[in-house]
Amino acid sequence: MLGEGLLKGLAETAKNFAGSFVSKERLITVQYPEERHPLPEASRNFPFLVYDGADWEAGLRCVACQICEKECPPKCIYIEKSKDKKPDYVGKMQIYPARFDIDISVCMSCQICVEVCPFEAIKMDTEFELATDDRFGGLLQDRKQLAKSNEYYHAIHPTEASEVDARLAEEKAKVEEKARAAAAAAAAKAAAPAAPAAPAATPSPAAPKEGEGSQPQ
Ligand code: SF4
Ligand code: SF4
Repeated sequence: MLGEGLLKGLAETAKNFAGSFVSKERLITVQYPEERHPLPEASRNFPFLVYDGADWEAGLRCVACQICEKECPPKCIYIEKSKDKKPDYVGKMQIYPARFDIDISVCMSCQICVEVCPFEAIKMDTEFELATDDRFGGLLQDRKQLAKSNEYYHAIHPTEASEVDARLAEEKAKVEEKARAAAAAAAAKAAAPAAPAAPAATPSPAAPKEGEGSQPQ
């Protein structure tokens, strides 16, 4: 029948319109920004830097290796290495980023920086309300703005953050085990009895110099 599809569509709309007054499932819109839909765990927007502990600056996992800066396709990451070092998450002294900026007006949310980071230091955020009228300064985020705690990471991506924590704990245990084995080997070497000194070599008689010991003719 001509227009059958159109009538079916209108009937469905009318059913949902009337149904939305009695059934919450049929009401698929919310009064944003007062109400919000929960974001799916896999959603992502722009990157942020993860820190451990209470101090964002001391706890940044980033060691300024600059791999993400090199791999970022639109080149919107700017890093300057520190001159000094601080302990990383396993206590190893590491360089840290004295400057770490991301221009989110250029970032295309590809997540390549996250994938290439060997230190689990940069992850994708779900924050999307970042509009500003300051086109240049407002969209260039510095390391303080980018730094977010591991607890925040767990809140937005709980499954992924738990996997990362398990991986880091495993790596830390391996490093500690290696250090224990090295310390035990050094202690065993120090405690081993010293090898007896080799007897002093008997000096061989000096060869007579030419002319010495020869009978006068
Ligand atoms: S998400 Fe992609 S474009 Fe954005 S900073 Fe990371 S690598 Fe660069
Ligand atoms: S975020 Fe990761 S890849 Fe980028 S500089 Fe820091 S440690 Fe290196």
